[in-house]
Amino acid sequence: MTHVITLNAGSSSLKFGLFKLGVNDPALVCSGLVDRIGMPDAQVEAETADGNHVTDDAPGPIADQAEALERALNMLERHFPEMVVSAVGHRIVHGGAEIDTPQPLTPQMLKALEKFSPFAPLHQPHNISGARAAMERFPDAAQIACFDTAFHRSHPWVNDVFALPREFYDKGVRRYGFHGVSYDYISGHLAETAPLLHAGRVVVAHLGNGASMCAMVNGRSVGSTMGFSALDGLPMGTRCGQLDPGVVLYLMDQEGMSADEIADLLYNKSGLLGLSGMGNDMRVLEQADTRESRQAINYFTFRIRRELGALTAVLGGLDAVVFTGGIGENSRLIRDRVCGDMGWFGIELDPDANADNSRIISTDLSRVCVMVIPTNEELVIARAAADLLHNRGSAAGQPIHNLRA
Ligand code: AMP
Repeated sequence: MTHVITLNAGSSSLKFGLFKLGVNDPALVCSGLVDRIGMPDAQVEAETADGNHVTDDAPGPIADQAEALERALNMLERHFPEMVVSAVGHRIVHGGAEIDTPQPLTPQMLKALEKFSPFAPLHQPHNISGARAAMERFPDAAQIACFDTAFHRSHPWVNDVFALPREFYDKGVRRYGFHGVSYDYISGHLAETAPLLHAGRVVVAHLGNGASMCAMVNGRSVGSTMGFSALDGLPMGTRCGQLDPGVVLYLMDQEGMSADEIADLLYNKSGLLGLSGMGNDMRVLEQADTRESRQAINYFTFRIRRELGALTAVLGGLDAVVFTGGIGENSRLIRDRVCGDMGWFGIELDPDANADNSRIISTDLSRVCVMVIPTNEELVIARAAADLLHNRGSAAGQPIHNLRA
């Protein structure tokens, strides 16, 4: 039995998953997080599929993605000595304007992906260095990338363009859309479990620390709230969401802020954190009940409702709304605020089902079906890796690379 490792490298974190390959879907064995990379109090945490905590026996600072990968793998190796890694799947934020499917990763491909780093400077370089570290660690394993932009390549031109002189579009200044790996999972899940809705008009709200919404027809993206960068659209944990570009000009001209300072403000100090002055964790804001925390929540749900209306107009009607992501899957309050008093829109929420985080939280009479579907980005990546192995003709029983070798 061989395994797939999934990696999702961020600026100071590395999420990892270990999946067992078999005849069916890849099965999760363990998932974890290396956090606070580059800081003295870095930590590695993991949990097995049946909920057991996996401990890091060698704590200490972690300098970079390569060291983070090493620490995560050492921990996995200790706890799962039978592990045989035949493929590594990577989440990469930017695949540019052409890539619309997962791609096998080679050193040449990674070099080519560097050209998108200026479009996603806070994510792409880390994704690439994570992939390089994995290639070094597993030189014989298949490597594959799933791109956050890929799912949105089905957008019509009007949804991809900014009203700037055309030369900027040609240079790549476009609305790419993100969170595509999560939307891919939701689309596939709907196809399996609710084919009629999948074939219809659906808005998916991925509400986590990052947040965006996606309009789908026939399971394919036709519009998204995120654009050129992962800053646009909804306010997020620490990101501002939609902003008049005049504000950026003001910050430069009048406040004398540099590009780096503005990036830090918009990515790290804004959103729920900026408005509440308290934090970016929705659970904390819900419990705090201060004027600022209430206003932060009000702005968050106001923008979601506004985008829901806009995306419904893009779709020409609405058959289903899906909530996903840490907030979408768990917060009855946020779902209630978004869907409350929306009978005129065709949404009738069932309060008990909403309180239970049920799969369907609308009433039987609701014209629009409202659902809660936990996302599973790691499974999308593991499936892509399994498909790649299958296409390579590597039987699942024949390890390509043995971690213990
Ligand atoms: P994610 O980025 O998808 O992991 O989501 C993280 C966000 O989900 C954080 O803002 C958490 O506060 C939020 N979250 C997780 N559980 C809950 C909950 N029970 N109620 C409200 N928000 C939650």
